[in-house]
Amino acid sequence: MDLQLKDKVVVITGGAQGIGAAISEACAAEGAIPVIVNRDSEEVRSFAARLLKAGSRCELLTIELREPETCRRAVEEVLRRRGRIDALVNNAGANDKVGLEDGTPQTFMDSIHNNLWHYYSMTHYALPALKAARGVVVNISSKTAVTGQGSTSGYAAAKGAQLALTREWAVELLPYGIRVNAVVPAEVMTPLYRRWLSTFPNPDQKLRSITAKIPLGKRMTEAAEIAAMTVFLLSEKSGHTTGQQIYVDGGYVHLDRAIE
Ligand code: NAP
Repeated sequence: MDLQLKDKVVVITGGAQGIGAAISEACAAEGAIPVIVNRDSEEVRSFAARLLKAGSRCELLTIELREPETCRRAVEEVLRRRGRIDALVNNAGANDKVGLEDGTPQTFMDSIHNNLWHYYSMTHYALPALKAARGVVVNISSKTAVTGQGSTSGYAAAKGAQLALTREWAVELLPYGIRVNAVVPAEVMTPLYRRWLSTFPNPDQKLRSITAKIPLGKRMTEAAEIAAMTVFLLSEKSGHTTGQQIYVDGGYVHLDRAIE
């Protein structure tokens, strides 16, 4: 299927690692121009270098997304380099485990900062360019938005708000033909997930107990499977889909996990 994403400028926050990296790769494979917006590190730079070497015309902006002013400058820089924005994938975030008991109002706000504020800021500042391009927005949320997880109030609140904003923006942006959808992962092996697993006394056992409860195939979702849904939502092939929350999770959230 030709997704007709060739030459489209797609901004992907957190686009150099984990799910975001898979989205950047999928965009590159479709001939789009992934603009990776990520915190700086050696891994991040070598990921972008690998994409470039493989023939992609990707761009890398190494920034911290927490501050709206940085988001504004990032959007300006994309426009300076590429002149347009056809799509925005809000993806950067981390389950930072700020709970009710062990957190504080301040750490809760910090978590909202890290996980939610930039979804709004990036979309707000990219809006004039998205309007000009009749663009697309995809928000990467999490199962914790609807299932809860315990001991992670900030992250759960941010992820729930991302789903609410998906519907809210889908309505507000109807007059401009801008579609807004969310992809909702549950269990995907990424650097973030590996770090989380390593906090358990027996990570392998914990992983086995999780995958045993994933209805379809008793396995983790591949980052490439999240990316495949995302590029479909970015493309005109999903041209009449807006305001949706798409669960790419092997049935984890909606199917009966007691089924053997
Ligand atoms: P990941 O492996 O940590 O990759 C995310 C990348 O984004 C990292 O390079 C990270 O940098 C960067 N990033 C995070 N916050 C940033 C900020 N404020 N400014 C700039 N860069 C930032 O994470 P992932 O597992 O792929 O998760 C991606 C998205 O999927 C997140 O929104 C997460 O909530 C969601 N999700 C993931 C899972 C899962 O099972 N993995 C499940 C449900 C939802 P650092 O490494 O420096 O932090």
